[in-house]
Amino acid sequence: MPASASITKRFEALTIWQRAGERAPHKPLLLLLALGLLSRGTTLVPFVEYEHKLADLLREFGPSRRTQHPEYPFLRLRNDGVWEVIRQHASIPGGDTIADLRKTGAAGRFPEPLRTAFDSDPRLIGRVARLLLDAHFPESLHQDILDAVGLSLAEGSSSARRRDPNFREGVLVAYQYRCALCGLDLRINNVTIGLEAAHIRWHQASGPDAIENGVALCSMHHKLFDLGAFTFEPLGRILVSERVSGTGPFEQVLLQHHGKQMSAPIRQEHHPRPEFVHWHRDEVFKEAARPN
Ligand SMILES: [Zn+2]
Repeated sequence: MPASASITKRFEALTIWQRAGERAPHKPLLLLLALGLLSRGTTLVPFVEYEHKLADLLREFGPSRRTQHPEYPFLRLRNDGVWEVIRQHASIPGGDTIADLRKTGAAGRFPEPLRTAFDSDPRLIGRVARLLLDAHFPESLHQDILDAVGLSLAEGSSSARRRDPNFREGVLVAYQYRCALCGLDLRINNVTIGLEAAHIRWHQASGPDAIENGVALCSMHHKLFDLGAFTFEPLGRILVSERVSGTGPFEQVLLQHHGKQMSAPIRQEHHPRPEFVHWHRDEVFKEAARPN
């Protein structure tokens, strides 16, 4: 059996995380976080450095819980043969409480021979990530999770691309967690729903993961933006394509925004750069704009 096949088997064989219908996405989220780091060349996952990030992932993509326990997957994954925990301060005695993990400088990583396998086959990261997503999350969440852990999977294949996990967060903060078009700021409990950081110049077209190449849009407007149903001018005036049509809901969802101003980011330096806006107009927008 080729090494990579035996590796993916280990991830397929992970303990099933459902107890009486209860979701427990802890292990796959930690693994996806570690795969995102690995795709950017980081092998070691120090607990103190990533416990908050992991707790955030659990809050956003896991079931509603009063408290999050990032230490659970960090410790329990060891039993699945895909994770090892080393203590960076070996002289300090410590057990397996969250405080122990912190004070002993605990850090997790993929054990050998996984590290070597990932090293020698870069596509393996994508294959394992896809496997974990397919096994543990509905498709509608895949992209959000990949963004959050900084992984990018080429469509239909399994090659991982480098991605900046701070892009989404930075863009959403810049636009105050509201769709720049319709103002949607839906939340369930304290978690933003249906809001995305759209690249103006697409990632696939070498658009950078920079806030000035991003805009916060709800899922609907993100899709319409990527389809070129609308674009905007460098100063933020929205232009709806004359190719797009529909009846009542179309007016409500899109047409009413034509000629109006998009919400601006809080900071001047985060305004979309004209070169990216021009790229969108040229390469994506379905010309021509409707008359005013
Ligand atoms: Zn919207």
